[in-house]
Amino acid sequence: MEKRELLYEGKAKKIFKTDNQDILWVYYKDDATAFNNQKRGQIKNKGVINNKITNYFMNFLEKNKVSTHFIKEISDRETFVKRLEIIPLEVIVRNVVAGSFSKRYGICEGEMLKKSTIEFSYKNDELGDPFISEYSAVALELASEKEIEVVKKLSFEINDLLKGHLKIFNIKLVDFKLEFGKVKNGEIILGDEVSPDTCRFWDIKTHEKLDKDRFRNDLGNVEDAYNEILNRLKI
Ligand code: UDP
Repeated sequence: MEKRELLYEGKAKKIFKTDNQDILWVYYKDDATAFNNQKRGQIKNKGVINNKITNYFMNFLEKNKVSTHFIKEISDRETFVKRLEIIPLEVIVRNVVAGSFSKRYGICEGEMLKKSTIEFSYKNDELGDPFISEYSAVALELASEKEIEVVKKLSFEINDLLKGHLKIFNIKLVDFKLEFGKVKNGEIILGDEVSPDTCRFWDIKTHEKLDKDRFRNDLGNVEDAYNEILNRLKI
């Protein structure tokens, strides 16, 4: 496979075209941003760690019959993925109260939710990924009603699979963000990444944060936390 021009550079990844129009070449960077780009920095080796952790979860999900964009890890920081037509919605799944949900509803971080919940954001950097209802997403033609139903079903399925698996390693899956896209035949599959950048992982007993909140909130030992996830999963 040959690497071609840069298609897109995001906050944490660069995406290149390849000589196959259905395959993209992902490069994971060490750059970290938070609070809508207001806070910027680097987390040493984050690109390597997130590449490995994402591919680990994508493999795990595939084994459990969830289709993902993962094709093949090429190097420490690089992976081939299927080209998707991305649905411009960020799907946030929550099991435990944290982050913006805690602030918005005035509930302490750490409170277990009676039932897992899903929220949607409109993927738009200029607008700061604003919260959007399912109805507005359909009204704005970001996705059809049917597509949203599929996305919700897949997200809850992925939540159950990841939550159960992480428990084995004494990791609590607090919340996370997913992105989906369509392949040529219209099938909706999981894209983007599943990593400490996009998930809140807590130690099951101590509730120690093992994710990007350490960077967001200047808690220190950021690299250690990312490495801890890698080590616990024995990747
Ligand atoms: N998240 C993400 N990208 C975003 C917003 C949120 O990966 O642009 C993840 C975040 O890491 C957390 C979950 O989605 O695991 C819920 O985030 P929340 O809405 O609480 O926002 P935050 O408090 O992180 O701003």
